[in-house]
Amino acid sequence: MHLKDKNPGKLFVLSGPSGAGKGTICKRLLEEMEDLSLSVSMTTRAPREGETEGVSYFFTDRETFEKHIQGGNLLEHAQVYGNYYGTPKEPVIQKLSAGTDVILEIDMQGALKVKENYPDGVFIFILPPSMAELRKRLTGRGTETAEAIELRLGETLKELSYIDKYDYCVVNGVLEEAVARVRAIVVAEHSKVAFTAEELIASYKEEE
Ligand code: 5GP
Repeated sequence: MHLKDKNPGKLFVLSGPSGAGKGTICKRLLEEMEDLSLSVSMTTRAPREGETEGVSYFFTDRETFEKHIQGGNLLEHAQVYGNYYGTPKEPVIQKLSAGTDVILEIDMQGALKVKENYPDGVFIFILPPSMAELRKRLTGRGTETAEAIELRLGETLKELSYIDKYDYCVVNGVLEEAVARVRAIVVAEHSKVAFTAEELIASYKEEE
């Protein structure tokens, strides 16, 4: 057995309040890191300008979404800000078993469900530097109505109470620093001892 076989793909779960910058951090990581793949979620939310079907999300209606729930096709799902969001199961399982790391960018309810099935997942919480900055970012990106922004800000403090379920927390004040920290977490997780002494010795002998 080669040691690499003992180190299959890892599941990284990124959560944080809306506007904390999870999406931007993920995008940067995907550009910089090979063997890392983002899970494309399914949602009943309407597409925003610039979002692409199958890349940003799989956009669908409630009826179809509920069929996917019943069919057991989702690794997890949750209702967030009044819409369904869920992670298609099959692509995640395939990628992990092929040795590719997978990132899920999902809310805390979904993350908790993933944790039940994948306790070995790595759970990372992205925090905004302050509430004032969060409000500024949500208003500045101009993708939500004023009402939707208030709904998301109202949820933020409740969402912070999930922090103790997570392994790591990264404050996204300066984007470069936050990306570097998440990258460091990925590298550190892959440097963990994931084999026994016997397996290590056997693999060195094999390679001689
Ligand atoms: P947005 O509408 O801004 O794209 O996403 C709203 C929230 O839904 C974010 O917190 C995002 O992380 C979360 N979300 C996106 N995809 C999923 C998913 O597949 N499952 C769950 N549980 N949450 C998701």
